[in-house]
Amino acid sequence: MRYQRSSALFRAANQVLPGGVNSPVRAFKAVGGVPVFVREASGAYFTDADGNRFIDFIASWGPLLFGHAFEPVLEAVIDRARKGTSFGMPTALETELAELVVSMVPHIDKVRFVNSGTEACMSAIRLARGYTGRDKIIKFAGCYHGHADAFLIQAGSGAVTFGSPNSPGVTAGTAKDTLLANYNDLESVEALLKANPGQIAAIILEPVAGNMGCIPPEPGFLETLREWCTREGILLIFDEVMTGFRLGRGGAQEVLGIRADMVAFGKVIGGGLPVGAFAASREIMRHLAPEGPVYQAGTLSGNPLAMGAGLAMLQAIEKDPGVFRRLEEKTAYLHRGLEEGLGKSGLPFRINRFGSMISVHFTEEPVRDFASAARGNNDAFRKYFHGMLDRGVYLPPSAFESYFLNDALTYEDLDVAIGAAGAAMAT
Ligand SMILES: *Cc1c(COP(=O)(O)O)cnc(C)c1O
Repeated sequence: MRYQRSSALFRAANQVLPGGVNSPVRAFKAVGGVPVFVREASGAYFTDADGNRFIDFIASWGPLLFGHAFEPVLEAVIDRARKGTSFGMPTALETELAELVVSMVPHIDKVRFVNSGTEACMSAIRLARGYTGRDKIIKFAGCYHGHADAFLIQAGSGAVTFGSPNSPGVTAGTAKDTLLANYNDLESVEALLKANPGQIAAIILEPVAGNMGCIPPEPGFLETLREWCTREGILLIFDEVMTGFRLGRGGAQEVLGIRADMVAFGKVIGGGLPVGAFAASREIMRHLAPEGPVYQAGTLSGNPLAMGAGLAMLQAIEKDPGVFRRLEEKTAYLHRGLEEGLGKSGLPFRINRFGSMISVHFTEEPVRDFASAARGNNDAFRKYFHGMLDRGVYLPPSAFESYFLNDALTYEDLDVAIGAAGAAMAT
């Protein structure tokens, strides 16, 4: 495949955008080569600036559950845009989407809409601190909660790929209030609880991790965190920015049967437009301004285009609840195919999967936390990624990211991807 126009566009972009992009992972630093510039997309495919067509396995990193340019979302956005793009005043649409979210997700009464997953997580911990009157939070190495200072202590995803787990610009003062535990490692949490009695406002985590590749919680892990949080008056925050409306209509809380005290959303909830949200019980949410003293605001929060897109997306899910089973079956099919295709290379690899999240790590050992994910063979991953790309299959350009399947993908598309994996690894 030729990437001539993408190369030229990347050179031009680098003159005016740091690294040529507006979000680091897009720059292909982890895999090398020239990032593919998108021209347009429809369903499961996109076309790049050179006219190459790809099967898309990231779906805008998760939001596009039904694929690109999904008609109901398009119609909602166009219809809304004609009526005005932003008001800075309340609309009925916000209530309508909130009602739908509350009806779909267990254990929440009220929602605050924001503009990104980062904002949702950042605001959720502020509310948790305001509510509990405590300063510290526990997060897990390799879990990503957006780029707010409090989370860039050793984040997964882009920050890891860039080898700067502790970003310059995050102050020591901020860092001291974020305690780091290891995923699937209860002892590491217990030690922090013992060392900081009565000081921890919240434990925040991805209930199924997706930002160090896909790492499911081991049996008992979330259950025990739930128990300890209840015992210690700590709020358990599920960051469901990735899992919400993807694993099931009620997210990981529903699928795993575990109650969180607060939930953060993003990605699918906006149907491809910039939306985030955090939600909790009435009792917790009443501490949020203007009802309570914990401040949080946004000029474009609840934006009508974004709310319209989110509403169209969630309504489409409600109309077609079979989407989750179809996605899971497609992902399981891909899983089996990749096991076979990759097996041809003789290189050790591990495939982790939960629902429609799946990832490949080139390592012999089970991948159950950040440390084991980080021991993967980056060189093998790079070759695998480019082998797939050149065969028209677009995977996440980092070993620390999960693939996101969308319902527009056909079994033929999956067969193409599986065949490409076999061919890529054979060379
Ligand atoms: C993507 C993601 C975020 C950040 O959301 P943005 O919209 O990129 O700010 C937070 N948490 C998780 C689990 C995510 O996957």
